[in-house]
Amino acid sequence: MSEPSIFTRILEGEIPSEIIAETENVFAIRDISPKAPVHLLVIPKSAEYRNVVELAAGDPALLAEVVALADRLAAEHTNGQFRLIFNTGPEAGQTVFHVHAHVLGGGLSEGSMG
Ligand code: 5GP
Repeated sequence: MSEPSIFTRILEGEIPSEIIAETENVFAIRDISPKAPVHLLVIPKSAEYRNVVELAAGDPALLAEVVALADRLAAEHTNGQFRLIFNTGPEAGQTVFHVHAHVLGGGLSEGSMG
């Protein structure tokens, strides 16, 4: 068995991090190293899928739950507009191989992709 991911350890309370929202299958925390005024992570509770491509192929309904919680949190924490980022692969900046969405919002520069 591989080691539990950092997000599983947070979900199980082994590593302290406030769970700011939770549904049956998905939870959310604040990113420890925020890259925007609002930077949340929305994470399936199951660590079965390593990245968004595997999640979309294996459980599209769970991917839809991730997006729905991101939308709800963006409405609660900022103006409802947000960037949704899934880093996919180490060269794209993925460091945790338990699929998660970055939800970035609040004071993003207009029209910028960067
Ligand atoms: P990735 O680089 O895999 O796309 O995203 C992983 C994210 O998890 C990073 O933005 C990183 O700051 C965040 N992160 C890593 N360890 C922790 C932690 O212990 N607590 C929280 N809240 N975020 C973490």
